[in-house]
Amino acid sequence: MQRISADKWYEVRRLADDVTAIGEPYIQEFYRCNIWHVRGRDRDMLVDSGMGVVSLREWVPVVTERDLIAVASHTHFDHIGCHHEFECRAVHAAEADLLANPTRQNTLADPYVTDEIFDALPPEPYCSACYAVKRAPATRILQDGDVIDLGDRVFEVIHTPGHSPGGIALWEARTATLFSGDILYDGPLIEDTYHANAQDYVASMERLLRLPVRIVHGGHFPSFDGARYRQLIRAWLEGKGRTAPPARRFRPPAGFGPGNR
Ligand SMILES: [Zn+2]
Ligand SMILES: [Zn+2]
Repeated sequence: MQRISADKWYEVRRLADDVTAIGEPYIQEFYRCNIWHVRGRDRDMLVDSGMGVVSLREWVPVVTERDLIAVASHTHFDHIGCHHEFECRAVHAAEADLLANPTRQNTLADPYVTDEIFDALPPEPYCSACYAVKRAPATRILQDGDVIDLGDRVFEVIHTPGHSPGGIALWEARTATLFSGDILYDGPLIEDTYHANAQDYVASMERLLRLPVRIVHGGHFPSFDGARYRQLIRAWLEGKGRTAPPARRFRPPAGFGPGNR
């Protein structure tokens, strides 16, 4: 299979609200994690760090421009591969041990990582059979309700177990923006990992439905709006035989809008 040079591995797209999407286009869409960079006044935040097959720090300048906290939405291999490159690392308490002691099994690299998940391979010396995530012990342990403060922007940690025990979403109430990780995105959800929990998954979805979300940046697949968010959650809950409670809609606070920051 063809190899891609390091300078072409990542794709960087600046979105609204100082959010930048960093992707790995040569990984097939289903396996390709979204890496999110959020610019703050005092520091930046990275939500997830990709597979780690090419250095983010070396090839994506935006992640080194400012002080940065690298948050893990959870610890599957596709989300934490470059965490070891950052000094400041945060993860939910329930997966702190996984970030500190990753193995091919507990990060799901085994069985998922084979040459088949790529359209073209990372540069030498990458090899799928030897692929492993480097350990990156957290410097900050997160709990539900904690806040990640970037100076002018604050993100609340919402513990969303189900896909994995320490999964989190990050919620910015002012802009009604949610970084959802793998508990919810606009594509096939994974509910059967070794540490998934069906009951927790339902409870997390019911909780998420109560948030007046306007824009969602998920762990995989393209971002979507609040209407799609509620539609996806309600359909999922109905598929589980649950009656979804009425959803709340985003109502802009006074002063919200373009030019009011
Ligand atoms: Zn995952
Ligand atoms: Zn994932």
